[in-house]
Amino acid sequence: MNLILFGAPGAGKGTQSELLIKRKDMFQISTGDLFRAAIKGQTDLGKKAQAYMDKGQLVPDSIVIGMVEEVLNKGAKNFILDGFPRTVAQAQALDELLNKMHLSIGKAIFLEVPTEILMDRLTGRRVCKNCGAVYHIVSKPTKTEGVCDNCNGEVIQRNDDKAEVIGTRLKAYEEFTSPLKDFYKKAGKFTAVDGNRETENVYNEIEKIIS
Ligand code: AMP
Repeated sequence: MNLILFGAPGAGKGTQSELLIKRKDMFQISTGDLFRAAIKGQTDLGKKAQAYMDKGQLVPDSIVIGMVEEVLNKGAKNFILDGFPRTVAQAQALDELLNKMHLSIGKAIFLEVPTEILMDRLTGRRVCKNCGAVYHIVSKPTKTEGVCDNCNGEVIQRNDDKAEVIGTRLKAYEEFTSPLKDFYKKAGKFTAVDGNRETENVYNEIEKIIS
């Protein structure tokens, strides 16, 4: 089944995608990760995206849609869309794209988490610059401060996880991404999952939904 995982920044989309990849025969398309890789590689796409990302704003639809189209064209089956679509225009473009490819989305799973919890998760989040492993200063600290447990890479705070940028990201979510709930309700694909629980409990519910 092809899945959409959506929700506010910090809702746990990346964490749940990681588990689904490890335990199911699925692969993840994370537009945020694709942009971060493009920034690291200093590509034109990365340069365009960085200006928006650093400010906590959404990257324009045309750029995101073009990038996702390229990835889907490489062969798409059992995919998890993590962080895409984030606007109704992106959701409509995705439908058109998938129709052309004779593919469809099975479920759009919305991870529901209260705002105060999101703030805590985002401000405390740290990531490995090298392998992308995700930590939290309180709930999942590294064994040695600033050093990745997996690869010894440098563990840092994402620019857009800094307190001054988080507000803009949450506002962008409310304005542009929240309307996707209605979009996927109308399409009969919407399912909400309480994301404010232990990772494994959230995962178990998602697993039931997709099996
Ligand atoms: P994420 O890692 O999903 O939190 O994404 C980090 C940042 O990448 C977002 O704050 C946006 O600036 C940008 N981004 C990722 N996915 C999208 C998308 N589907 N549409 C617009 N901007 C996006």
